[in-house]
Amino acid sequence: MIIREHVPLASLTTLKVGGPARFVVECVHENDVRAALAFAYEQNLPWSVLGEGSNVLAADEGYNGVVLRILMHTCTFEERAEHVIATVDAGVSWDELVRLVGEKGLWGMENLAGIPGTVGASPVQNIGAYGSEVKDTITEVRVFNAATNEIRVFLNEDCGFGYRESRFKHDKSLIILSVTFTLAVNGTPSLGYKDLAAYEAKEGTLTTPLAISEAVRYIRSQKFPNLREHGTAGSFFKNPTISKEQYAHLKEQFEGLPGFPNEHGVKIPIAYILDHVLKLRGYTEGNVSIYANHALVLVSRDGATADDVDQFGNSIAQRVFEVSGIVIEREVQAFPVTV
Ligand code: NAP
Repeated sequence: MIIREHVPLASLTTLKVGGPARFVVECVHENDVRAALAFAYEQNLPWSVLGEGSNVLAADEGYNGVVLRILMHTCTFEERAEHVIATVDAGVSWDELVRLVGEKGLWGMENLAGIPGTVGASPVQNIGAYGSEVKDTITEVRVFNAATNEIRVFLNEDCGFGYRESRFKHDKSLIILSVTFTLAVNGTPSLGYKDLAAYEAKEGTLTTPLAISEAVRYIRSQKFPNLREHGTAGSFFKNPTISKEQYAHLKEQFEGLPGFPNEHGVKIPIAYILDHVLKLRGYTEGNVSIYANHALVLVSRDGATADDVDQFGNSIAQRVFEVSGIVIEREVQAFPVTV
């Protein structure tokens, strides 16, 4: 376990904003998690877990608490007749896992290539892309429950998975240690989303998980900013689901508005409103912009503060509401979340 003091949260988050954390504890072994919590109690400070910081907006005032970084990174693969069970530590990078699984020719994660963050963060918001969600491959999630001081295993059906949702998002006493996935030896490509279908039409048939994951990475690289070059947390807002009636009404106003029916109503790609209705692609206020290649993505430049990003996000959400009546929620989470 490594303890560091007064670490700028800006250096631990991809939006590159946020003041200092009093302590950062790096947990490189499972036992370190217990020790890190004991350290927080000794210091009489709150604690909070941070992964790669790719989906968080950290406060300018920083965090007078203990940030736990879960860095264990072992992966084991067990072969069965029709599938392979992968048990993966929370600290493994998600995209490195997708790459490894693709190289082994296993199916189930290929559409989720290129999503930043760790394996431990993947069930928290049930990451999803191009018609797949991580919940489709997860069999169990092993956690340390800080409220009871016990290790507990949640089976898939007990994880409360939904669209960008899980119980781990709401119960912050559950610290994810590892995730177990079931991956198929034989699978079928799922290439229904427009961008993937267009890629295939241009570049040729995609038949292997590795080829699909590489295509997904390429498509994402054209739309999403590179985290090494820009301060960003990817999609800043969730795509909302609205009622069928509201959709029909909006469709009269905005003829080309796409809508994808689901069990709760119709899901709207909110980038359409931001881009085609509000014409906000590339729009800038101070040091914060809407990314030129994708209107759902905010980008912060050097000198931006968390407050700037927060206010910019609010003003964008307000404009969407004024023009469409849709209340959009942030996908990006505020940090710290204290326990
Ligand atoms: P996109 O492909 O332009 O899609 C925009 C929205 O329309 C998404 O909500 C998407 O649903 C929906 N959509 C598009 N085609 C659909 C279809 N055939 N059936 C049902 N719904 C459809 O999205 P993008 O912004 O370029 O992002 C690419 C992919 O990465 C998307 O799937 C997006 O959701 C995903 N993504 C995930 C995360 C995350 O997990 N945190 C962050 C950023 C982007 P879905 O939302 O169900 O895909």
